[in-house]
Amino acid sequence: MSASQTSDVPTLLVKIFGKDRPGITAGLFDTLAAYSVDVVDIEQVVTRGRIVLCALVTEPPRGLEGDLRATVHSWAESLKLQAEIISGIGDNRPRGLGRSLVTVLGHPLTAEATAAIAARITESGSNIDRIFRLAKYPVTAVEFAVSGVETEPLRTALATEAAALGVDIAVVAAGLHRRAQRLVVMDVDSTLIQDEVIELFAAHAGCEDKVAEVTAAAMRGELDFEQSLHARVALLAGLDASVVEKVRAEVRLTPGARTLIRTLKRLGYQVGVVSGGFTQVTDALQEQLGLDFAQANTLEIVDGRLTGRVTGEIVDRAGKARLLRRFAAEAGVPLSQTVAIGDGANDLDMLNAAGLGVAFNAKPVVREAAHTAVNVPFLDTVLYLLGVTREEVEAADTLDEGPGEGPGLPTGRS
Ligand SMILES: [Mg+2]
Repeated sequence: MSASQTSDVPTLLVKIFGKDRPGITAGLFDTLAAYSVDVVDIEQVVTRGRIVLCALVTEPPRGLEGDLRATVHSWAESLKLQAEIISGIGDNRPRGLGRSLVTVLGHPLTAEATAAIAARITESGSNIDRIFRLAKYPVTAVEFAVSGVETEPLRTALATEAAALGVDIAVVAAGLHRRAQRLVVMDVDSTLIQDEVIELFAAHAGCEDKVAEVTAAAMRGELDFEQSLHARVALLAGLDASVVEKVRAEVRLTPGARTLIRTLKRLGYQVGVVSGGFTQVTDALQEQLGLDFAQANTLEIVDGRLTGRVTGEIVDRAGKARLLRRFAAEAGVPLSQTVAIGDGANDLDMLNAAGLGVAFNAKPVVREAAHTAVNVPFLDTVLYLLGVTREEVEAADTLDEGPGEGPGLPTGRS
């Protein structure tokens, strides 16, 4: 039956609530079938073993409504379920224009935060159409489907709320594009991996304090990245090239990194990294993680020693955005379908150029400028921003050979 056919006909909303057990849905529709009604809509959720089943059906033939009501109530009573039947006209009201998905990540997700977010959505003039839990760990992730306001003003309205409440909120436009094939490009240092690679090299050169100082200033945006890169690499001059292997072995992936990449690949995404660090490390990561794209600076090595210089095209703040565009063109993915993830000031151009820019445990200057921020240390939580549920991730892992490093750390471990 088409929407136009049900728009002004009398309908009955039948709501069933109670302890879930097998056969409730079949039982309700079996009961209704005796009255030759048609189904207009069905919604069912089960929360902690309690079912809420809503069936919107056409009115039964003349004179049979009272009988239908009595039969449904007696069926429900026999199963110790509560039933409510409300007469009305037509189908659900059409959803408003301007549809967005609001993903909230809480660690934990408090009632206070939920109230504030819902209030802000309502104040913005939008309506909450559906709410759905995406994950219960390593964070509680909930998705609100809202309509009535354009995505951008809603994002702005919720961004301030997120910072004040200590939760992460991502607002994206709803629609087909969300299911389309995409490209995800990540920063490496302090994003894909927990380390700053130049600091690992510096430790071997005995100049880690000096290098860390320059890195911190550069990440805060106080120093031009290219100058700081040359200054730091110069401190490594004379270091034996065998250190490269040692540094590769020292690199620690961010929790959830393998889960993120494995799941993205299963979904048909292309995944790349761009780094202000070094190809000596990113090439190994590309190989190890099966990345489609990787680009970084290259440490010059002459006669088995680091020269203190980099060679080739410099990957800096502008370079990262340029590479995002290049990877997108090569992957055949429009920029609007790209996701960029990074933590530093030199990621900002890339985050802004991408369809969705995610500041990952970023410095405040980056967090404030990005579309959305993730402030929990689990990289796989980015999947929730893309609408992937924890359940889907785990089901895919169970079907396949092995779970790699497994999901992010359990809740409660900060
Ligand atoms: Mg970084």
